[in-house]
Amino acid sequence: MVVIGIAMLQGARHAHIDAIQRAAKELAMEIEVVELRTAEDLQQQTIDALLLPGGESTVMRLRGNDQTSRLLPALFAWMRENDSRPVLATCAGAILLADPQDGGEPLVDADIDRNAYGGQADSFESELDCGFPGIFIRAPRFGDVRDEVECTLSGEIVGVRRGNRIALTFHPELGNDSRYHRMLLEACA
Ligand code: GLN
Repeated sequence: MVVIGIAMLQGARHAHIDAIQRAAKELAMEIEVVELRTAEDLQQQTIDALLLPGGESTVMRLRGNDQTSRLLPALFAWMRENDSRPVLATCAGAILLADPQDGGEPLVDADIDRNAYGGQADSFESELDCGFPGIFIRAPRFGDVRDEVECTLSGEIVGVRRGNRIALTFHPELGNDSRYHRMLLEACA
């Protein structure tokens, strides 16, 4: 049984849960999804992989650093201690990985610029160069990328990979293609 932790701080959480369940079905894999709200939730579980949804990184930082949760520092510590464990971070989640703002090393080595395509009205859908349906919602943009390139949109980097850790500026959980969620599960094997 593979255990997938999902950060329930804010944002597109339930679509990620649906997407990972769909991916597990496609792979005929048995998984358990554990909802993480506090540092204790993480300490009480051994998770094999982590989903870090999108939403608003400012809200996630506030909630995740609040004394009642402390989930964010616990997640960063887990990632640094378990360097090869699979992580899928999307949009605001990618911002948190590239710019953890906790005085420690970034979790992916890339510059990132919040809301770089504009506001809500500038959200868009566009097929990535690999054919994946990219849904970009108040998306950030990578600047200088020092880790591996995971995927591009018309040549521009929209996904960064460090080993099994993937940071995407779009929302794979909102389309029908569960490729990225399958990738997370396959990396657990
Ligand atoms: N604009 C958001 C931020 O800065 C990210 C948007 C998203 O996750 N869809 O955190």
